[in-house]
Amino acid sequence: MKALVAVKRVIDYNVKVRVKADNSGVDLSNTKMSINPFDEIAVEEAVRLKEAGVIDEIIVASIGPKESQEQIRAALALGADRGVLVLTDAKPYPLQIAKILKSIAESESTDIILLGKQAIDDDNNQTGQMLAALMGIGQGTFASEVKVEGDKVNVTREIDGGLQTLALDLPAVITTDLRLNEPRYAKLPNIMKAKKKPLDEKTPADFGVDMASKQEIIKVVPPAERKAGITVKSVDELVDKLRNEAKVI
Ligand code: AMP
Repeated sequence: MKALVAVKRVIDYNVKVRVKADNSGVDLSNTKMSINPFDEIAVEEAVRLKEAGVIDEIIVASIGPKESQEQIRAALALGADRGVLVLTDAKPYPLQIAKILKSIAESESTDIILLGKQAIDDDNNQTGQMLAALMGIGQGTFASEVKVEGDKVNVTREIDGGLQTLALDLPAVITTDLRLNEPRYAKLPNIMKAKKKPLDEKTPADFGVDMASKQEIIKVVPPAERKAGITVKSVDELVDKLRNEAKVI
């Protein structure tokens, strides 16, 4: 069995995001970039399935600038076998990503396709769903548990007020939620070994995907700065302020 894992290069989740002065987007200069955290969970899940003998090979794919090879190498150091980097300097949108991933999944005949539930930069939460629809296969989104049984995969999903378990025919698309697993840290020898693992470079044109955008970002603004707080001297003063100034009680 083969797995395809999609990893996106995003601003590291610990970094405070800076908006460009002209409000055209987020400033990425001199910013630490990492694998999207949900995608790291997807890589970890694929590696665990490989360790359990369910999967034989893990392919990692990323669509983005040349530097995205750092995130592919990081996934290879965690245990993936080979990478595909689809080079583009355009800002890719979920449908374009889904079309490219569909071509890779079909040409590689992958059985399990793992994505993050959302990329923390654009918060789209669309790519996995679009991919499953384009491929005409089942999807288990927001997975908190994944169990392969024969030619099916059982996916437990975190839904409002509880858990739902689905049985999906393979191939299937799975998107990961935070509680699916806790990703391991890459060990130094594995980081060294990852440098030698195969990494193919492609372009969107190789998959017949047009990267022209059908939408335009009009503006990006940072959240309003929070005002400094005050220290109150007593509970009575706090209640008074909440009632008469903030008017929340
Ligand atoms: P989104 O729909 O943009 O929130 O992204 C959901 C998931 O799709 C991510 O967690 C990744 O697994 C995958 N994905 C999105 N963009 C890319 C990309 N440029 N390259 C590889 N995978 C991506």
